[in-house]
Amino acid sequence: MPRYVTLRRFHIAPESFYVNNKQRRQATMWSPFPSPERVLVIMAHPDDPEFGAGGTIARWADAGADITYVIVTDGSKGSGDPEMTWERLVRLREQEQREAARILGVKECVFLGYPDGEVYNTIELRRDLVRLIRLYRPDVVITHDPTARFIGNTRINHPDHRAVGDTTLDAIFPLARDRLNFPEHEAEGLAPHKVLDVFMTPTNEPNFWVDIEPVLDRKIRALLAHQSQIGDPATLRERIEARSREYAAGSIYRYAERFRRIVLKG
Ligand SMILES: [Zn+2]
Repeated sequence: MPRYVTLRRFHIAPESFYVNNKQRRQATMWSPFPSPERVLVIMAHPDDPEFGAGGTIARWADAGADITYVIVTDGSKGSGDPEMTWERLVRLREQEQREAARILGVKECVFLGYPDGEVYNTIELRRDLVRLIRLYRPDVVITHDPTARFIGNTRINHPDHRAVGDTTLDAIFPLARDRLNFPEHEAEGLAPHKVLDVFMTPTNEPNFWVDIEPVLDRKIRALLAHQSQIGDPATLRERIEARSREYAAGSIYRYAERFRRIVLKG
């Protein structure tokens, strides 16, 4: 596929080579917000898409993109409630995730059901993700940054986030692209697929900022759908506003989501 055809569709300037990181950062900050037709969001737990990228997802949905969530784990460890059972929590979190997706304008949710806290970069997970990439044929994939062992100096990144990000990147390149990987997909009628644009969150190395001010309310509403996860709904707005302001630092926006973005050569 000629590289520039794809790049034009994304409204990204042809790749330049920057002298230093400051120039790179300025160039990526000013590069326009892309307009993908199809987006696949591959994340570890119900609520990860909304926390990391809810505003970006809402903006793409409003622009008419077809967005699908792939939630890798069943979220079955995310409760401190002594009355909560594993089965009830899994059902509840699936419902919460569907409601949050509906608020943002996401068309479909796929739940892979791997046990929460037990995700590794295995051949099975690779096969599942490659199959979904070949099936949904996304222009953009949103996932976790697998290189983020810590988040800033105050948090340890969840191991499921690292494992899902790592496996997703392996699935994108080279596995989904090359037809001899998982040939059973070809037998099923699924052609190989090249993903050219990857957004990763959370990350310690952001190089792309998205203005979420117009959709901040909707992001917060979608987060509130995760009732089992939001300990103090009254202060959620304050917390999300503060974090979005903090993430906007160094950009031209008031409220932002930030990503490490990799635009692959076609
Ligand atoms: Zn998570």
